[in-house]
Amino acid sequence: MTTTQTGPLNPSTSMSGAPLLSVQDLTVEFSTAAGVARALDGVSFEVSAGETLAILGESGSGKSTTAQAIMALLPKPAGAITGGKILYAGRDLAAEPASKVREVCGTEIAMIFQDPLSSLNPVFRVGAQVAEPFRRRRGMGRRDAWARALDLLKRVGIPDAETRINDYPHQFSGGQRQRIMIAMALALDPKVLIADEPTTALDVTVQKQVMNLLADLQAETGMAMVLISHDLGVVAEVAKRAAIMYAGRIVETGPIRDMYDHPAHPYTSGLLDSIPSQSSVGGRLKPIVGSPPNLLNLPSGCAFNPRCPFAIDRCRELAPTLRTPEGWSEGHQAACHLSEEMLAHV
Ligand code: SF4
Repeated sequence: MTTTQTGPLNPSTSMSGAPLLSVQDLTVEFSTAAGVARALDGVSFEVSAGETLAILGESGSGKSTTAQAIMALLPKPAGAITGGKILYAGRDLAAEPASKVREVCGTEIAMIFQDPLSSLNPVFRVGAQVAEPFRRRRGMGRRDAWARALDLLKRVGIPDAETRINDYPHQFSGGQRQRIMIAMALALDPKVLIADEPTTALDVTVQKQVMNLLADLQAETGMAMVLISHDLGVVAEVAKRAAIMYAGRIVETGPIRDMYDHPAHPYTSGLLDSIPSQSSVGGRLKPIVGSPPNLLNLPSGCAFNPRCPFAIDRCRELAPTLRTPEGWSEGHQAACHLSEEMLAHV
């Protein structure tokens, strides 16, 4: 995975061979009655086969908009890609009509969503829903498609799958429903899986099980994964690299372990301080003060400056860009005027 936002890609950050999916300088805007909101502003990243990139940030940071743009699921007519490229298999999906992109996205690029109950049809048995891609996209007969659905349900760990395949979505627990969604997403052996907050609605134990399942399936299939989350703690064991988003831009990116140990952007630091951990048991978590900015009226300079405890005059005047100062670990970039000072004090 590599990420950049402004300036050239840093070739040293590509660690797993040629990228399968390359998002370059992507800009998305939403037209609203109050004006045009730039939801993504020059977002770039790459992900290769067998690699997991975590995209992290608070609600409204642009994580889910990034996924929607890739999958041609931006709400219409308000949302539109207004710049940049989404390169996949020699094609620029950003330049193609939504109908063409969805052909690719239904098969080679798959997505799982936060809330499986709203994505599963309550009136159909899960077997019929998991079998549906085999019938519609592969032209299989009912019996063969059902057999493939059963295989998938077993593969994602649904107990007693032979019986449960006849049940309806409401008869499953939240964790099992997410497993069923994963089965549906994997039905056609996608090359890229985008998982948008796949464990947010689950309790901590089940979150870990679903994350482990995704990691196991990735090891088995070699697919690339883009894992979207607001919780750095949840993804840290699965993803090796991460991109932190704020106000539609990537503000820090690099090896997740480095960011965990040596955050170079105050926003990343704030996200880490708000994670429950062993050391915080019995203590208080520190939420990031303030709220994400209104995209229709962004602060001047660094968009994080009204919430940043370290902001100086320069931060209010000049927007920082992603950069890799000398001495930082490979691929670690941050968009902060004071990153060197931050790293010097951790
Ligand atoms: Fe804070 Fe300034 Fe860095 Fe923005 S550029 S994160 S305001 S120190």
